[in-house]
This record gives sequence, structure tokens and C-alpha cells, in this order.
Amino acid sequence: MGSDAGKYDCIVIGGGPAGATAATVLADHGRRVLVLERHRFPRHHVGESLMPQSYATFKRIGMLEKLRASNSPVKESVQFVSASGRESQPFFFFDRDPAEWSRTWQVRRDEFDQMMLDNAADHGAEIRFGARVKSILFDGDRAVGVRAVVDGQEREIRATVVVDATGQSALLSRQLDLRYPDARLKKASIYSYFKGAIRDEGRNAGATIIIHTPDRNGWFWFIPLSDDTASVGVVASPSYLFSGRGDDPSATLQEEFEQCPAIMRRVEKASRVGNVFVTTDFSCQSRRITGDGWVLVGDAFGFLDPVYSSGVFLALVSGEWAADAIHDALDADDVSADRLGRFGPRFMAGMQLMRQMVYAFYDPRFSFATFLKSHPEHHDRLVRLLIGDVFNDEVGEIFDAMGEWVDFPDPIVMEQEQAGP
Ligand SMILES: Cc1cc2nc3c(=O)[nH]c(=O)nc-3n(C[C@H](O)[C@H](O)[C@H](O)COP(=O)(O)OP(=O)(O)OC[C@H]3O[C@@H](n4cnc5c(N)ncnc54)[C@H](O)[C@@H]3O)c2cc1C
Repeated sequence: MGSDAGKYDCIVIGGGPAGATAATVLADHGRRVLVLERHRFPRHHVGESLMPQSYATFKRIGMLEKLRASNSPVKESVQFVSASGRESQPFFFFDRDPAEWSRTWQVRRDEFDQMMLDNAADHGAEIRFGARVKSILFDGDRAVGVRAVVDGQEREIRATVVVDATGQSALLSRQLDLRYPDARLKKASIYSYFKGAIRDEGRNAGATIIIHTPDRNGWFWFIPLSDDTASVGVVASPSYLFSGRGDDPSATLQEEFEQCPAIMRRVEKASRVGNVFVTTDFSCQSRRITGDGWVLVGDAFGFLDPVYSSGVFLALVSGEWAADAIHDALDADDVSADRLGRFGPRFMAGMQLMRQMVYAFYDPRFSFATFLKSHPEHHDRLVRLLIGDVFNDEVGEIFDAMGEWVDFPDPIVMEQEQAGP
């Protein structure tokens, strides 16, 4: 990197889907962008099920051909299984809109994240692996660069804008004490990978299946991946999963399988082919999305919950929109919080619709089956929410009807009042 004074328009910290997207779009705008990723890829990451509305961003950054050529199973639907074991009809996205963008993929994140960063490099971004950022540098209130360990050496690197894409590490919002947990979504997860699990046949073979546990204490995800492998995990409150249950998460996962016939029938003859992973306290958000000279994207801004597989989609969209806002701000020679944050209100409104869907899922009075029986007129809006069509106020009309069952809290109030474009 040599002397970097004035060399970079933008430093992106973290090379997950949000960081890779932001870097690709910035490079396409002709900006000089440096990605600092602490790991050497490929590395494990949870979050394999994509949402169909990711299509537009994939198209823009040139990822569609690569995904089509990969061996990732095509995802055409999601399906829910109730606590009593009753299976919903699969929600087939293609039936509502028979177009290529109504299908998506189930990806192995080690391969997918590598592909995304390789793509960013092909578009002109400079990528440094094994480069851990320790802190963001400020001149007064304005971010001006980072302090990082690169090639074993600690150094300062300067840029006009710093993008925090560090995922759950949320480096900048922790440094500025902006991050807070969503008290209604205090969850944890235990998950692993299984070869030879029973998946459906035909169009539903690539489905993400969400299965309530019989006691409704939690739910399972079942995500079919390439090479006859499935990602399977249980999500519940940390107290339920960890209090008084010993210190072996694989034993807890097995106990949960045994109590749930709908998942057990899929995994009982399968072999575990990965470690058992535990993750907790993932539902968090920052009180701001931008500041002077800095922007948060993906999980570093906020993560809702795994239930609808919205994490990567929101990471892609925030990465894309943030990059456009940064390009515009650099052109205007104004990287103030307000200028950088012009994408914020629309992004947060869409995220809020997805959050309401998450609250509905966890409300014991609510079920999709009962809701659709009373309100068949909302079927189309529901499918649109499940594919990620959230940047559109009209779909939000569904929540007036859902309010019969669910007490939705007031929308999250941000510290930042941001002007629209
Ligand atoms: C249990 C669970 C299940 C999930 N399932 C799904 C799913 O099925 N579908 C879905 O879409 N989403 C899912 N998610 C969410 C998904 O994993 C995330 O939303 C997504 O990975 C966010 O992308 P990102 O780029 O913001 O962050 P990440 O993918 O986490 O990338 C952040 C990157 O930053 C790097 N980094 C961190 N700190 C530093 C530092 N100091 N210096 C340099 N680099 C750093 C990390 O190494 C990492 O590579 C799930 C999440 C959980 C917890």
C-alpha cells in the first residue's frame, strides 16, 4: 500500500456481502476503494438462504452469471410447519410472478462470500485479507481513516469516507456506543450441517423450511445446500437453550431434534458433517446509520432475526445504496452525515416492515394460516414480504390487519433526523 495519503476515497471494513457490494459499486463509479478483511477466505459464516429480491443487486454488480454457474440449489419457495406438525402450502415465489427474479439460491457462505469479494476485485477494488481494523480514526467528529494491523504491522490508513461492514462485530457503532439490542428479540441459535437429510422433491426441493417446535419454545430452519448437505439450526431464547442443559450444544441440538418429529424425520438418517456452532444476541441495531465521513452497512447497522432469511438481502441493498450515496457525496465534496445518509430513511422504512413480520412470527397469538383464512386479500402482500419486496409502502398495509393479533411497538426512533433525497 506504500504511502496512502489521498490514495483512497473509501475504506470498507469487512468483506462480507455488505462490504463486497459497497466496494463493487464504488469501484464501478470509478472510486478508489480499499477493503480490509480480518480473515483469510474462505471462512465459515452462517446465513445461507437468500431472498429473491437480491436479484437486482446481483444483476447490477455482475453476480448473476456466477450464481447461475454455481452448484447452489435454486430456492423457489419457503414453507412453514406449525407446532402441531401441519405443513403450510409452500409459498412459491414464481407462481406470483413468473420471472427469473422470483427464484434465488441457497449458498454456502464460504464459497459465496469468496465469490463476492473476487467479483469486487475484478471490478477494481483493492482487497486485503488478514487485515484487522482496531479502530476508526476521527478528526473531531469526522471519520478520516482507520488503525489496522496489516501484514502483522499496525498502521494508520486514511480515506475520505469509512464504511463499517464488520457484521455483528459492529466496530464503529460499538466504538461510538450507538448499538443496542432489540429487547423483544433476545434469541440464540445452535446449528450444524448434515449430509443425507431428507429434502422435498420437485419444485420444493430447494425450499427453506421453518418448523415450529411442538412446545413453541423455538423453531428450526432447514436449508438444502449443494452436495446433499443441509444447514439445520434451532432458534430460541438463550435461557431455554442454555439454562440447565449442560455445556454440550450438540447434545442440546440432538434433544431438540428428538422432541420435534417434523425435523427428526428429515435428519435422523443423516450424518453430521460440520462443527456445531452457537450464536447469541444477534438482534441489534445502531441509533445512527451515518455520521460525518462514515456509513454503516449490513449487520454493522442492524440485524433483525434469521427467520425470513433477510440478512444477506439487507446487507446487499444497504451496501449498494450506501455506495451510491458516498459517490454522490464525494462528487459534491460534502461527506457530512446528512449527505451520506440520504439513503437512510427509505432503507430503514423497508427494514421496519421486515421487523414487523418478525414480531408477528414470534407472537403466540398469530399464525399465517389463521391470518390468511381471515384475510385472503393479503396473500399477495404476504408473499411479497417473503421475497423481500419491502421498499414499497403499499405492502405495509398488511400490518393494519395483522394488528388484530399482534401488538406492534412504535417504530424505532433514530437519533438522526435524515432528509430524503
Ligand atoms: C443464526 C443465524 C442464521 C442466519 N441465517 C440467515 C439466512 O439464512 N439468510 C440470510 O440472508 N441471512 C441469515 N443470517 C444473517 C446473515 O448471516 C447476515 O445478515 C449477513 O452475513 C450480513 O452480512 P454483512 O456483510 O453485514 O456481515 P458479515 O457477513 O458478518 O461480514 C462481516 C465481515 O467483516 C469482517 N470483520 C469483522 N470485524 C473486522 C475487523 N475489525 N477488521 C476487518 N474485518 C472485520 C468479518 O471477518 C466478516 O468477514 C443469519 C444470522 C444468524 C445469526
